[in-house]
Amino acid sequence: MEYQYANRMSYLKASEIREILKITEQPEIISFAGGLPAPELFPVREIIEVNRRVLEEDGESALQYTTTEGYAPLRKWIADRLNSTRGTDFDADNVLITHGSQQALDLSGKVFLDEGDYVLCESPTYLAAISAFKAYGCNFKEVPTDEHGMVPAALEEIIKVTEKVKIIYMISDFQNPTGRSWSLERRKQLAAIAARHNIVILEDNPYGELRFEGETLPSVKAFDQAGSVFCLGTFSKIFCPGYRIGWIAGDKEAIAQYVIVKQGTDLQCNTIAQREISKYLELYNIDEHIEKIRRVYGKRRDIAVQTMEAEFPSDVTFTRPQGGLFAWVELPESVNARDVLTRCLEKKVAFVPGGSFYPNTARENTLRINYSNMPENKIVEGIKCIAGVIKEFVK
Ligand code: PMP
Repeated sequence: MEYQYANRMSYLKASEIREILKITEQPEIISFAGGLPAPELFPVREIIEVNRRVLEEDGESALQYTTTEGYAPLRKWIADRLNSTRGTDFDADNVLITHGSQQALDLSGKVFLDEGDYVLCESPTYLAAISAFKAYGCNFKEVPTDEHGMVPAALEEIIKVTEKVKIIYMISDFQNPTGRSWSLERRKQLAAIAARHNIVILEDNPYGELRFEGETLPSVKAFDQAGSVFCLGTFSKIFCPGYRIGWIAGDKEAIAQYVIVKQGTDLQCNTIAQREISKYLELYNIDEHIEKIRRVYGKRRDIAVQTMEAEFPSDVTFTRPQGGLFAWVELPESVNARDVLTRCLEKKVAFVPGGSFYPNTARENTLRINYSNMPENKIVEGIKCIAGVIKEFVK
């Protein structure tokens, strides 16, 4: 059969990371590729108990359909958490539970984007956000971005010369892929610029709770007078990604629009997953759990950075993230990270070439290192291998 696909299928392609992940499922591979949490940190024993309690105490409702908005106690927990840690002022009705923050990205495209609209993003930015928005036929402009976030004057200039800018997409803490965080000043400036131009900000923050050092900063939402900012979050990195539970929090009127499009997408999130997470939060101390994750990833970050410092040639630069899962490496302009990857895969080491993180103009001399998923000895061995291959190319 000759399928007559929708036009959008011509501008979508399989995620390069997901393709690399297929290779990295081989057990002998040292993988810095996916953004995978460390599975040995998943609280499996506690989840067995939580599952039992949910089914015994309220099994029938836990297995029933539920509201599109999500399980009320979980929505309240999320609102309270953002308020106490990030300076927001939400209540449960500001929060919609989504299947991962990935679904919140997709629903945002559905709610706000028409074909030909513009999304402004950091350069580079999260690959799967690009794919999610692209399905709605939008265009992208990459805003010049430094170690403090988007450069405000450049952002203003782009808004001035671009019609139909609907969304500014940004990742405030320990960005994927660079590991960088926005400064306080830039957060304030961004909120002011978006309000002035009536543009929605999607503030995606899956990694903010995984800070190894430095001070937690308020959400951009804390500086939002206009209702422009929506906070996207997830249990994937502080708990378990397999539950696929995340959220979007923002203005109630707009959240009601999200509820309408979510009904057409999947009616609601998995009921029992929401109940189990909520029961976990009731029975256990998630802060202790997050502290355990922080300690392990912090150590892995140290090892990754120290090995890069010792092994990489001096004309290779890289970020030293204060939290999260990723570091970003820039090779000399003449070296293509895809060629480096091909050689590394022969030696059973994987990472993601950076080119895919740019919607328009790829910088192919870049790559992303995920340090959360490998034990320390493998991190050293893998980075030494990448360093050896880079040296073959920069002779
Ligand atoms: N946003 C960013 C920046 C991410 O890195 C990820 C996960 N890699 C997501 C959203 C989606 O995460 P999830 O759907 O598991 O919540």
